[in-house]
Amino acid sequence: MTILRAQGVTKRYGGLLALSEVDVAIEENEFVALIGPNGAGKSTLLNVLTGLTPPTAGTIELGGRSITKASTHARIRAGLGRTFQHGRLFDRLSVLENVMVGAANRPGRSEAQLESAARTSLERMGLGHLAPSRISSLSYGNRRMVELTRALAGEPRILLLDEPAAGLNSGEVEDLMTRLRAIRSEHRLAVVLIEHNMGMVMRLAERIVVLNFGRKIAEGTPAAVQADPAVLEAYLGAGSSYAAD
Ligand code: ADP
Ligand code: MG
Repeated sequence: MTILRAQGVTKRYGGLLALSEVDVAIEENEFVALIGPNGAGKSTLLNVLTGLTPPTAGTIELGGRSITKASTHARIRAGLGRTFQHGRLFDRLSVLENVMVGAANRPGRSEAQLESAARTSLERMGLGHLAPSRISSLSYGNRRMVELTRALAGEPRILLLDEPAAGLNSGEVEDLMTRLRAIRSEHRLAVVLIEHNMGMVMRLAERIVVLNFGRKIAEGTPAAVQADPAVLEAYLGAGSSYAAD
């Protein structure tokens, strides 16, 4: 079953077409990578899916229901989870409190249930020892992991991740990959991952969607996309390397 479907999504900023007629369908429990050169529209698509940015045209369905006009909060309650390219944690709250905010996305939980759900999420991510720490005292890598934990604590049906590995060192990237794999085996959820690290994309993604200048130029298995001339050209044109490392 399709969990998230975007159809004909267009986003215009003045004269700039950040997204043009983009169709994307994500299946339940599927791991999809969203790639493309800088400025391709990846973050804009995530912002449209999560309701942060209204589309100029197009429709979005979550679990078969239209959410095109739903607020971000309503989408989160309906099962959407996300992290941001530039993290948004509450610096002066503790790790536990931040994750409790994520857990509160499931309606009807008492304070005690929120705390217990947040602690469980932290334990699962190997971060239980950080529960009392203030966000401002954490390393950058740990902040990013707490963001991911906070999104998971809302028990999303689909998790949207915008460059979660950006700024992490190679050990932290390996750790993130291990966690993402564990998340997939422990939770029943779909993941959409925006990521520049092609090694990571190739190892995690079942399917890849490629954007360039706001258009979807390719989609398919990692092997097919990697060999697609339009994809190679988009990356070479942008002056980036596209070798899987
Ligand atoms: P990506 O995440 O693929 O690097 P973005 O989605 O951030 O790309 O941006 C796509 C295009 O839309 C870029 O040209 C960017 O400058 C433009 N853009 C993004 N957000 C805004 C905005 N709020 N106002 C104007 N232009 C924007
Ligand atoms: Mg981006």
